[in-house]
Amino acid sequence: MTISNAPEASGAKTQGALESALAEFDHAADQLALSPDIRAVLRLPKREWTVNFPVTMDDGHVRVFTGYRVQHNVSRGPAKGGIRFHPATDLDEVRALAMWMTWKCALVNVPFGGAKGGVTVDPRKLSANELQHVTRRFATELQGVIGPEVDIPAPDVGTNAQTMAWIMDTVSMHAGYTVPGVVTGKPVSVGGSEGRADATGMGVMFTAQRALREAGIDMAGASVAVQGFGNVGEAAARLIHKRGGRLVAITDVGGGVANPGGLDPAKLSAHLRETGSIAGAPGTTPIDNETLLALDVDLLVLAALEGQITAANAGAVRAKVIAEGANGPVTPNADPILADHGVVTVPDILCNSGGVIVSYFEWVQNLQSFAWPAAQVADRLEHIIGGAYDEVAAVRARDGIGARLAAHVIAIGRVAEATEIRGLYP
Ligand code: NAD
Repeated sequence: MTISNAPEASGAKTQGALESALAEFDHAADQLALSPDIRAVLRLPKREWTVNFPVTMDDGHVRVFTGYRVQHNVSRGPAKGGIRFHPATDLDEVRALAMWMTWKCALVNVPFGGAKGGVTVDPRKLSANELQHVTRRFATELQGVIGPEVDIPAPDVGTNAQTMAWIMDTVSMHAGYTVPGVVTGKPVSVGGSEGRADATGMGVMFTAQRALREAGIDMAGASVAVQGFGNVGEAAARLIHKRGGRLVAITDVGGGVANPGGLDPAKLSAHLRETGSIAGAPGTTPIDNETLLALDVDLLVLAALEGQITAANAGAVRAKVIAEGANGPVTPNADPILADHGVVTVPDILCNSGGVIVSYFEWVQNLQSFAWPAAQVADRLEHIIGGAYDEVAAVRARDGIGARLAAHVIAIGRVAEATEIRGLYP
């Protein structure tokens, strides 16, 4: 899936999400000298479901939706990964996202495998009632597939805490008792964790701050551009702004806004609530994605969708640091071009892992029926993601490789070890 005005339209050879995920895997497998047997196991998803299900729309007609759940690997624990509602979602995209979840959970060393789900739908074109029915019916189709000990969904593109509350309620209705641990990213009032809503953005902020520091740049006063202003982009922008970063440009699906003097994320959120987009917010000038991606800024946060920086436009990037809040926003064939230009990248499986780290905290709190205060969540998040950042830095230095390969080497090495130690059944 690519964003409509992304550079793929230029005709240059591009890599889709699955092709990118497999290329990253192969690169790390070579670096680790993995055996052909282990490669064959880890390259494919363990289980996949495609479901077609009918929903009665508000006007009385029946529409059939298609949804997916892919569990890539469960060697290190239950499958874990978000659910996406997007019109371009397909099985290959979900496979790629599930594989990235396996590596992400292993990199930050939480006891989960990787999964992902999605429904091919534009949630903005459904009423709240229709959205609830799609969500509940999809959750019902996944009965037995998801569960606190099996596979635990969370929000992703086009879904949020409300979506998770509906899934939790649907699973609970079928079980006959409340099952809070079946999803994470729920509202706090039904067992969600303090700090989960901001967790991915907070992790982006922590890791970006470390990368900027390595480049000799202080986040306070740094110029920052952000693509995407949803679950991840809004929180990242707000938290970076709070630490003194100057937000010079932000885009969302409706357009973009710029102000060299600095944008106020709270005002953009208010405009988004009123109009459905940040575009046209007072005191801003318009900007498009292509211009944003090529801005001369200290930090570029990518928090929309995959395939944004490719071999076709990587040469135009002038940011000093790229923080991959989104999954797969930079294709593997763009990486060497960015490296040649001295652009430092915080890779997705590290940069956006704050979400799954706090999802893990939420799951632990649900199993223990004991809630942690927000400060404890933030402290533990910083400790884990900071530790992962340092581990990646150590492998970068030890092996003389880039951050993306180093992160994959650590993660895939852990999953390979777990797979080998468990052995093959029967
Ligand atoms: P979201 O739906 O809340 O937000 C997506 C944002 O991207 C929206 O602001 C949307 O307007 C914007 N967008 C869409 N098309 C665009 C376009 N053409 N130009 C510019 N912006 C555009 O989704 P999200 O949950 O914030 O996820 C964003 C990315 O982060 C995805 O890659 C997702 O997989 C990844 N991610 C999310 C989480 C999480 O906790 N939600 C965790 C880890 C990774």
